[in-house]
Amino acid sequence: MNIPEIDDRTRLTCDVLVIGGGTAGTMAALTAAEAGADVLLLDKSHVRHSGALAMGMDGVNNAVIPGKAEPEDYVAEITRANDGIVNQRTVYQTATRGFAMIQRLERYGVKFEKDEYGEYAVRRVHRSGSYVLPMPEGKDVKKALYRVLRQKKMRERIRIENRVMPVRVLTTGSGSDRRAVGAVAFNTRTGEFIEIAAGAVVLATGPCGRLGLPASGYLYGTYENPANAGDGYAMAFHAGAELSGIECFQINPLIKDYNGPACAYVANPFGGYQVNAQGERFVDSDYWSGQMIAEVKSEIDSARGPIYLKVSHLPDETLGELESILHTTERPTRGTFHAGRGHDYRTHDIEMHVSEIGLCGGHSASGVWVDENARTTVPGLYAAGDLACVPHNYMIGAFVFGELAGADAVRHARSVAPAPEDLGGQIAAAHELIYGAARRPTVRRSPRSSTSCGAS
Ligand SMILES: Cc1cc2nc3c(=O)[nH]c(=O)nc-3n(C[C@H](O)[C@H](O)[C@H](O)COP(=O)(O)OP(=O)(O)OC[C@H]3O[C@@H](n4cnc5c(N)ncnc54)[C@H](O)[C@@H]3O)c2cc1C
Repeated sequence: MNIPEIDDRTRLTCDVLVIGGGTAGTMAALTAAEAGADVLLLDKSHVRHSGALAMGMDGVNNAVIPGKAEPEDYVAEITRANDGIVNQRTVYQTATRGFAMIQRLERYGVKFEKDEYGEYAVRRVHRSGSYVLPMPEGKDVKKALYRVLRQKKMRERIRIENRVMPVRVLTTGSGSDRRAVGAVAFNTRTGEFIEIAAGAVVLATGPCGRLGLPASGYLYGTYENPANAGDGYAMAFHAGAELSGIECFQINPLIKDYNGPACAYVANPFGGYQVNAQGERFVDSDYWSGQMIAEVKSEIDSARGPIYLKVSHLPDETLGELESILHTTERPTRGTFHAGRGHDYRTHDIEMHVSEIGLCGGHSASGVWVDENARTTVPGLYAAGDLACVPHNYMIGAFVFGELAGADAVRHARSVAPAPEDLGGQIAAAHELIYGAARRPTVRRSPRSSTSCGAS
């Protein structure tokens, strides 16, 4: 790779810069564009198939549908599941705006399960309330969103740059006057160095899914989309934004030896449940709370392990329905994995294990602190989706906070003047961060010699 000179950088400008074109990022971009802003949407991958959505959703985990559940009950449930460590104002936003978001998604062509009376067919998974809404065609959500992004009126407002990966948010001012004014990035294919000047910056780079090795020992074999490597946490931190709930990180109870969820969320409403090797139920909560993970871990470590998601007692018709969700939408390789071991849900329950740890708002409670408008503690810098600390926010929460971030970012961008300062120092530091390693000579060491323990 030729290392570009700092002065040879490409300069881009926009009203609202959105970093990450997954669930939250596409919604932020669409919302900001609808409000009349010029939007630049960057993704280190390709927006058409990037992020968690492209891996397929089996249902909405957290829909508060009027007449089926109350926002206050949902907030209480999430507060309990997180041992009280939540900013309830943010959770309330998801609870009260989630239904309008479902309707917005329906207008985009996304399908949600309805019963014979045309009512949303919500199912119960949490200890109280029914919030899980199956999506029969959940594998197509990203396709539907991408279609909207590429409509003529959106193309005129939203410029998409794929394979462009920002590494630092640019800021101006200091102390309480500090604000976000852009980012520095590079093209992961060509090495091009890029500076972006923006009125506001939305970080939507997903969770930190590769914080530790998954149980398989294969770094990319993660439950989370492996492209979501925690870049947004680093960018927010270096811009001066507060991070929160980092100790409330995520550990997933997954299928043993397979990088997919056992999917209690899907199986439990059908009658599945977690058991130990003696066939006894042991989790008080079937929901991914800290309490549940502690119960799972101590059961596996005890003489009563291993543990299973019990499904073999279910009728054939139900298992067929489960297979059609779990072996297609959620993870197409899952059926092959079970078949390879000679396992069938009719005869074998699904062995589970605790797998990778990671930071995530969606499935746990750690992330960049945001208020109820997705603002971080740095003015002009927003965070949405799994990156933001809005506990158990999942897909609908990512959409809701993407929408909130997009709308507020436009208001902010219109209220500020262009960055007055020379940002040369920050740009030079980002240049060194990106290209510094390429300048250093490559030292090839065998893993054995580099870990020698000096037994001479
Ligand atoms: C396997 C799986 C199944 C799930 N199933 C469900 C479900 O059935 N129901 C439900 O409600 N929720 C589900 N969830 C949770 C839900 O999908 C997430 O909470 C939500 O999609 C997160 O959205 P996001 O925008 O934060 O992240 P993503 O949609 O993953 O988007 C992050 C984007 O950022 C990009 N990116 C990362 N770093 C950079 C960088 N430095 N520069 C540029 N771009 C970058 C990535 O390429 C990606 O496009 C599931 C999650 C997973 C992983």
